[in-house]
Amino acid sequence: MKYTIATLASHSALQILKGAKDEGFETLAIATRDKASFYKRFSFINEVIELDTYRDLFKIENKLKQRNVIIIPHGSFVAYLGEDYEKKLEVPQYGSKKVLTWEGDRLKQMKWLEESNLLLPKLYNQASSIDQLVIVKLYGAKGGSGYFLAANQEDFQKKIIKFKKEKYIIQQYLVGTPVYLQYFYSKMENRIELMGIDRRYETNVDGLSRIPYQYAKSIDMEPTYTVIGNFPIVVRESLLPEIYAMGERVVAASQKLIPGQGLYGPFCLETIITKNQKFYCIEISCRIVAGTNLFVNGSPYTDLVYNEPMSTGKRIAREIKNAIRLNRLKEILD
Ligand code: AMP
Ligand code: AMP
Repeated sequence: MKYTIATLASHSALQILKGAKDEGFETLAIATRDKASFYKRFSFINEVIELDTYRDLFKIENKLKQRNVIIIPHGSFVAYLGEDYEKKLEVPQYGSKKVLTWEGDRLKQMKWLEESNLLLPKLYNQASSIDQLVIVKLYGAKGGSGYFLAANQEDFQKKIIKFKKEKYIIQQYLVGTPVYLQYFYSKMENRIELMGIDRRYETNVDGLSRIPYQYAKSIDMEPTYTVIGNFPIVVRESLLPEIYAMGERVVAASQKLIPGQGLYGPFCLETIITKNQKFYCIEISCRIVAGTNLFVNGSPYTDLVYNEPMSTGKRIAREIKNAIRLNRLKEILD
């Protein structure tokens, strides 16, 4: 049977579809009309379907199913299809849907990360207990506007007024080095692979830090964390054993918490490494993250395992190809 690998034309679609083509799949980009002509520039995309809105994807599912389409989800799916999109989606996707409900609920996510023996930033249940610099995160504010810093309780009360009844969490602000660890857990090989490491380039927080102190001290501006791009990182080699172990613990904990439907495929631990070289995990993303776009041609870490360029997109396609060969495709589609 012939399979087509498809994704929404955005985020990491180029990497995903390039990898799929390299592995011999037919490729399909599902685009809005304004984006279609851009994606048609790339010869590794066999077809671009044009829709008025991304949500129209749900209207063409029958057509996609007839063509044996496998969907690869990425960071735009929730943004463009809505929360809980996975409950509506009928076309098979690569990756556990159950895991997404654990990821989407901040308290469940914390339970999972704690169960994985990861260090987490302290959470404050009430403003009166704020005893250090905190970062306040509104629910649904993904990486950016909707976050603010507060130095103490008074500062918090002043700033929260703007947000009325929205739900939020108050988290210890960690001073350290933000490091995003890109993993792949292969069900076929039953092993964790480190695909790459990156750091985000964010506006305006990265711009603020370029202002010399003599000027910065008189500017009253809140930092925002809207991601613009990513830098590659290689870490001290002595940190790698713990990085691999953390990935393994996260997968093992998911298998315990969600029997039979635990985490597999690409995922990312968003961490901050503090001065004593401890990793604190601020979030987990259970899908391909855009920072992997740095490594379309492989990373320093995949080069140690593969004697060929291996991106996360290509790794996903390789896993699907192996599963088809082993007659185990059902295990990795949801
Ligand atoms: P876009 O297609 O650029 O509008 O992005 C769609 C979604 O993916 C948004 O939720 C973005 O925040 C997220 N996204 C895009 N690029 C990145 C990136 N480099 N790192 C993290 N998230 C990203
Ligand atoms: P996130 O949306 O969780 O990926 O976070 C967006 C940005 O906020 C990243 O640059 C993080 O480094 C920063 N950030 C999030 N949580 C914390 C924290 N607890 N301490 C310090 N920085 C944080």
